[in-house]
Amino acid sequence: ADFEKAGLHPVMLKNVQLAGYTVPTPIQRYCLPAIRAGYDVIAVAQTGSGKTAAYMIPILNKLMGKAKKLAAPRPNPTTYRDGIDAPARAEPLVVIVIPSRELAVQVFNEARKFCYRTMLRPCVVYGGGPWRDQQRQLQKGCDVLIATPGRLTHFMDEPEILTLRRLRYLVIDEADEMLQDDWKEELDKIMSGGEQEEGNINYMLFSATFPKAARDLAKTHLAETHVRLR
Ligand code: AMP
Repeated sequence: ADFEKAGLHPVMLKNVQLAGYTVPTPIQRYCLPAIRAGYDVIAVAQTGSGKTAAYMIPILNKLMGKAKKLAAPRPNPTTYRDGIDAPARAEPLVVIVIPSRELAVQVFNEARKFCYRTMLRPCVVYGGGPWRDQQRQLQKGCDVLIATPGRLTHFMDEPEILTLRRLRYLVIDEADEMLQDDWKEELDKIMSGGEQEEGNINYMLFSATFPKAARDLAKTHLAETHVRLR
């Protein structure tokens, strides 16, 4: 089995080839068809297993066909003062929550590879980073947001900067790490934050271990769990 037989959009297949990936890793072999079929995913996955691409490729691939329709609005062309464009707000279709700045930047770089030549624009925000710069990035428009939990919930409190009302995919990556670092309250807020709109959000939960706290998180928020990998 290789990526050519995975039924990917030609632009996505090209991006996969540019990334140098030919053979899907085991977790990718499980996740590609599951996400394609519209299932929520819960997966035991270690760093190095290829888990980032396991969710990134099928999620973006799924959105590509609809990218024109779904892509976030470009900054409002209405000039309201001194020729400055009115800022748009970020209404991402995909949010990926991850415990640290380092991992966030790593996943952002992976997202950039696979967003190439699509309408989808990635963006990254993390705690400790410059709020103003991140705000500006978000307000340029953002379809795929990679974020640490604290900074994400702070931006969620500023609905003129960020809303989750268009959210389609929510990925919780390294869930055990975040629960261990006491982000449970933020994760609950994030995982219930998009539901008011359409109710058709797909949840993906990745974790290296599944302690009770992680199982509880899955039980509370994931409707159907279909991928288990050990
Ligand atoms: P991750 O587990 O997501 O941190 O990925 C670990 C490393 O494997 C990253 O450097 C990826 O770029 C790489 N990788 C992911 N999937 C593949 C693949 N199918 N073929 C070759 N390398 C891959």
